Amino acid sequence: MKRFILIILCCIPLITHTGCDKNVYPISATEFMLDTVITVTVYDGDGNALRGALELCKQYENLLSKTVKTSDIYKINHSGGMPTEVNPETVELLNTALNIAAKSNGAFDPTVLPLVTLWDVQNRTFPPCVADIKDKLNYVNYNNIIISQNTVTAQGGAQLDLGGIAKGFIADRIKEYLKVNGITSGVINLGGNTLLIGNKNGSDFTVGLQKPFGKNGELSATLELTDKTAVTSGIYQRYFEADGKIYHHIIDPYTGYPCDNGIASVTVITESSCIADGLSTACLNLGIEKGIELAKQYGAELIYITASGELILTDGLIKTYKDNRLFVCLKT
Ligand code: AMP
Ligand code: MG
Repeated sequence: MKRFILIILCCIPLITHTGCDKNVYPISATEFMLDTVITVTVYDGDGNALRGALELCKQYENLLSKTVKTSDIYKINHSGGMPTEVNPETVELLNTALNIAAKSNGAFDPTVLPLVTLWDVQNRTFPPCVADIKDKLNYVNYNNIIISQNTVTAQGGAQLDLGGIAKGFIADRIKEYLKVNGITSGVINLGGNTLLIGNKNGSDFTVGLQKPFGKNGELSATLELTDKTAVTSGIYQRYFEADGKIYHHIIDPYTGYPCDNGIASVTVITESSCIADGLSTACLNLGIEKGIELAKQYGAELIYITASGELILTDGLIKTYKDNRLFVCLKT
């Protein structure tokens, strides 16, 4: 019975008002999609725009998922290296992914799927063997993705996984949709990937920065932002532990192992959630020095949290303390 109720909850967007009057804001819709909990909250407009936003999210999941059999990504991955015609939006996203791959020297690599599948961090209890890792590394190379107009070819056994960038792309599309539908204030939260529309009643929105390995809701800082995105990649988000070591979901395409560089998380702050998402994965792998260099090329700001809990901010950000709580905002 419990399972039945859960399934119903997963299929019907949960739309909630803060009061009983239907014009009381904010209005929120929550649903399980993109393998995570997504919540869209608006501070003006009506519930129909929210429903539309969730439907749009579903459509993009069906286009970009590696597991949905009719998706563009599934078709490319199962084409046996033959050219596959895809939606122009898939091409747009792949071009952005390949751009970040090139600029990060492959620290972000959308062809990482063979390694992601091998590591399967949600189900494993011990690391794969070295020979298997070495074998899968042969197939990881973003240069094997060839785009020609609306046709994509994955050469040399390459297989795509857009899990490191698709949520950001979809968040940007939802924001566009909500703005066209008259929303001027809102929060799009796709599993911790946050994109803001405007401000909240004339003030910045606040976005919690999760403390790595802290209790649920325990924060390292609170961000104060307007009309920006904040996207975090962290080694605490999905992992298993073996022999006292953490094996997490972000793979270093140079070694074939989850990156292990003393960084617990990195948060990217900028305008485009798609860019922020790709950068967050890249900058976690790159570490502080190279990550900051990469972010500069995209005009993005970063907050690194090291394994010892130290916060390292790029130059465009500023720290303040209120009631002993740490706040971070953009320098104006
Ligand atoms: P994120 O939480 O945005 O950093 O994305 C993590 C997801 O991106 C993983 O679950 C994988 O699906 C995928 N991924 C893992 N390592 C990489 C990598 N080096 N480059 C691109 N995508 C990756
Ligand atoms: Mg990412």
